[in-house]
Amino acid sequence: MVLRERRLRWPVPRGLPAKLAGQRVLDVRRRAKYLLIELDRGTLIAHLGMSGSLRVLPAGTPPLAHDHYDLVLDSGRCLRFNDPRRFGCLLWVTGDAEQHRLLASLGPEPLERGFDTAYLAARARGRRVTIKQFLMDQHVVVGVGNIYASEALFRAGVDPRRAAGRVPAEKLGRVVAAVREVLRAAIRHGGTTLRDYVNADGAPGYFSQDLFVYERAGQPCRRCGSVIRQIVQGQRSTWFCPDCQR
Ligand SMILES: [Zn+2]
Repeated sequence: MVLRERRLRWPVPRGLPAKLAGQRVLDVRRRAKYLLIELDRGTLIAHLGMSGSLRVLPAGTPPLAHDHYDLVLDSGRCLRFNDPRRFGCLLWVTGDAEQHRLLASLGPEPLERGFDTAYLAARARGRRVTIKQFLMDQHVVVGVGNIYASEALFRAGVDPRRAAGRVPAEKLGRVVAAVREVLRAAIRHGGTTLRDYVNADGAPGYFSQDLFVYERAGQPCRRCGSVIRQIVQGQRSTWFCPDCQR
């Protein structure tokens, strides 16, 4: 490993390059927005932060500004992290990485078993927070950002202003299905391009062409023709159709 800058969101552990030398990569997986790289004697937890990127390059490629670390591989290539704003992180844990404080209290992955109607109904019981903010809470379910929460509630026909605890179980079932549907569609289309997002090949995502409500305030609902409204909930904008969503 080559470490050029330790001051990321949390300091990269001193001595990490020496610790990683000679270890094999056994597995690479994702949990919420964390990348887990399992090695022989522990696991690296990496996060891209707001502006970070990881690229695979020939190990000898001269570093540019904001290239903070390289994980050097036997293949002659390296995994290089660039992050102008330094909100990303690289942590080292031994033992069960899923039990690390950053990961232990996260809700289930929305496309995996565990995120179903019974689970959501149990979590929603008695909650007064709005269903929109509830869906965006990482402790409830991970990976449902502002676009997908707005779009899923439109598809499920649920008013985003409703208290989570007052959405009937039958409608929560529709919310679960709608969250899965919008995420799968977005993945299929390569994501939703906002500002400067590009995928690993440098291509933008095209899901934005399938949005029903997101950033469509004042425009007619694609289903009923009513005017799409925009409100603010928890400092984030929400878009919805006042007639399709109850
Ligand atoms: Zn409508």
